[in-house]
Amino acid sequence: MLLGLPEFELVSTETVEETCSLLSRSGAQAVVLAGGTDLLVKMKHRRTIPRRLINIKGIPNLNQIRHDERDGLRIGALTTIQAIEASSVIGKKFPAVKQAASVLGTSQIRNVGTIGGNLGNASPSAEFAPPLLTLGASVRCAGRGAERLIPIEEFFISPGKTALRQDELLTEVQVPNLPSGAQGIYLKHSLRKMDVAIASAALLIVFDGDVCAEARIALGAVGPVPFRAKKAEQTLNGRKLAGGPGEIELLEEVARVAAEESFPIDDFRGYAGYRRKLVAMLVGKGLERVIARTRA
Ligand SMILES: Cc1cc2nc3c(=O)[nH]c(=O)nc-3n(C[C@H](O)[C@H](O)[C@H](O)COP(=O)(O)OP(=O)(O)OC[C@H]3O[C@@H](n4cnc5c(N)ncnc54)[C@H](O)[C@@H]3O)c2cc1C
Repeated sequence: MLLGLPEFELVSTETVEETCSLLSRSGAQAVVLAGGTDLLVKMKHRRTIPRRLINIKGIPNLNQIRHDERDGLRIGALTTIQAIEASSVIGKKFPAVKQAASVLGTSQIRNVGTIGGNLGNASPSAEFAPPLLTLGASVRCAGRGAERLIPIEEFFISPGKTALRQDELLTEVQVPNLPSGAQGIYLKHSLRKMDVAIASAALLIVFDGDVCAEARIALGAVGPVPFRAKKAEQTLNGRKLAGGPGEIELLEEVARVAAEESFPIDDFRGYAGYRRKLVAMLVGKGLERVIARTRA
């Protein structure tokens, strides 16, 4: 049942250092507030009742998208979903990230929700997680007096729990430039476009001519955390994708292995068996589309 918000103290900070220091002093009763599209809903459902919200929206320079050929892409934690969807560099060089942004929630949610909040919420269905897993991204985290980079594969611990310590703030998402010949895609299945995913998949295939030099396949909403389907990747690594005999069977095999690697639960959005079927469908469709692009 959706109730009113419980009572809380709101503190706004203006620097990363001030935020980390306040987080450290406040202990478990304080949480960071960015767009509030996850946090405030959880508070209304009484799934969390923090005593203090630390509003970080006023910290300058955490909402920038930068790209260069040496360091790759950097997306500030406060960058809105809408800004990611609209970014020409992301659309051109990292299309799977743009695709994830464009199917996340409604335009109202995209206007205020942030990438830091999407990852910080650690939902198994977090839209940005699968593409960032295939891209080998890391998150930059600032703590009191220290910074560290956490590979995205190590960031999600369990539903709602990340590798962030109590005094740490996610400040930036870093994505290395893609190897040449790489093609990526993100696909989501939900009842309506704005709904949270019942299952999602991101693929990144690095082609060397018509050979799959490296396959990266990541799945969302079909396990306690988003994860790479490594057996499915191995099934495809080194295989020729020239449209010859046996290719359809190979792609079906990769999709089947990915479905077997998933371990979804039954919930009100879908049964586990249905979700596994969706994984096979999404991975198969993703492979077909990526391969078709290389032949266009
Ligand atoms: C109607 C509706 C539809 C939605 N649809 C989707 C969907 O289709 N796909 C999807 O993935 N999500 C969806 N969401 C969830 C949500 O909108 C997104 O996850 C959004 O990106 C959250 O960002 P936010 O800035 O609002 O986070 P907030 O609610 O402010 O924060 C979320 C969590 O992250 C923490 N946090 C925020 N920023 C940081 C930071 N910089 N460092 C450390 N911790 C931080 C907060 O403490 C909190 O625990 C939907 C939500 C609603 C209400």
